[in-house]
Amino acid sequence: MKKFNIKNKTENKDKNKIKNVAILYPNKFKAGISCLAVHILAEHLSKFKEIDTKVFFIENYELIKNFDAVFITLQYENDYFNALNIIKSLKKTNPNAIFVAGGPCIMQNFFPLEKYFDAFIVGEIEGTNVMAELVNRNFNLNGVYSKYTKPKKIKRIYPKKLTIDDYPIYQPTSEESAYGKSFLLEIGRGCPRRCKFCLARAIYYPPRFRKLEDLMYLAEEGIKVNKVNKVALISPSVGDYKYIVELCNFLDEKGVQVSPSSLRADTITEELMKVLKLKTLTIAPEAGSERLREFIKKDISEEDIMNAVDIAKKFNVEKIKLYFMVGLPTETEEDVEEIINLSKKIKNQIKKVEVSINPMIPKPHTDFEMEPFDLSSKQKVKYIEKKLKKENIKVGTENFNAMVCQCVLARGDKIIGDYLGRSKNYSQLLSSLKKDKLLGTYLSNIDPKKAPWKAIEIK
Ligand code: SF4
Repeated sequence: MKKFNIKNKTENKDKNKIKNVAILYPNKFKAGISCLAVHILAEHLSKFKEIDTKVFFIENYELIKNFDAVFITLQYENDYFNALNIIKSLKKTNPNAIFVAGGPCIMQNFFPLEKYFDAFIVGEIEGTNVMAELVNRNFNLNGVYSKYTKPKKIKRIYPKKLTIDDYPIYQPTSEESAYGKSFLLEIGRGCPRRCKFCLARAIYYPPRFRKLEDLMYLAEEGIKVNKVNKVALISPSVGDYKYIVELCNFLDEKGVQVSPSSLRADTITEELMKVLKLKTLTIAPEAGSERLREFIKKDISEEDIMNAVDIAKKFNVEKIKLYFMVGLPTETEEDVEEIINLSKKIKNQIKKVEVSINPMIPKPHTDFEMEPFDLSSKQKVKYIEKKLKKENIKVGTENFNAMVCQCVLARGDKIIGDYLGRSKNYSQLLSSLKKDKLLGTYLSNIDPKKAPWKAIEIK
């Protein structure tokens, strides 16, 4: 594992007053290093004179000893097990530390984790002193929920504009990262589209894009400082950036390889494909039929998808990856069949097609937050897999029980928190909930009055 050294300013700090603060990503180094939030948090804290920050992952968290604060970023529900396990051990070696969590999982619903942390940050920290105040044990802050203050409502905090001030130009990187050795360039946060199932759209609202000149400056500096020749563009929908072609051309002229995190089919143009030089194009139709795509407000027609495939073919794209969901509200057998038909149609155009299918997880704050989780999704995935394998289309899917667990944790409450504390992994959590006949409560329709996340004002 490469060392994650933050260029902090300890040389100018008064050693006696320094607070030792850990930023912890509760999973492997290679996942943490690909997470922009880790770099943003480290950069943000390095600006406070009295704080000395170090970054840790699952491989080296045991080095955190006698720290003053541990900030854990929770990007995925299935990391809760690692996080709790780590906290249990760190509480012994860091008796005076406060434990704080933040990240998308916390913004959506922190209640299952309530008793394990001193505080939660609901929102984005840029332009605030929230983290530094927490290190000094001030819990009475906007955007913060703490077991010591227990506010009835928590309003999400976020910067109205994204500027270069808090941007991490220095980003320790590694070949092991999901993007390879690249500079992570966040084009924008939030999404101007309206997909009903989408958590990113809900919790990062309103959409905020960075200025083109800021992005050019950040990219130029980032490439130089980190000695990389690849830039990963980060945004929920990269193609919706007004100046995407200009930005990609600028990077191309610098001889830099560009890798977009996600592109919508209707934003793929010849101009963009020419400069991106992609070998694999990823499209997320989410639903197979036009009717269901309209219902979930994906706003992508079959014509948009086939047009993107045509452009991909023209620019010698070798592989198309398709993302679908099953178990969407109102889904019929025909909608499931349409996933197979659409995949086959694309396979007729491009030799290599890979399909990823997963159940829709009804997430808090989205239009589907109260909808049931469709347990028959498992059979639907199996059925599609069988049919597509015959067509020589590779199908990938997440572990089904891990997805069920994701739903339970996303919509969970304090009761789930108790079960979580007694479970080492998702299998144990699901078995004990099943044994106590509680699993259905979290998978079926949710009564809005009983949804704990209603205490979080996200917009
Ligand atoms: S386009 Fe993508 S990021 Fe935007 S709302 Fe739809 S699913 Fe979410």
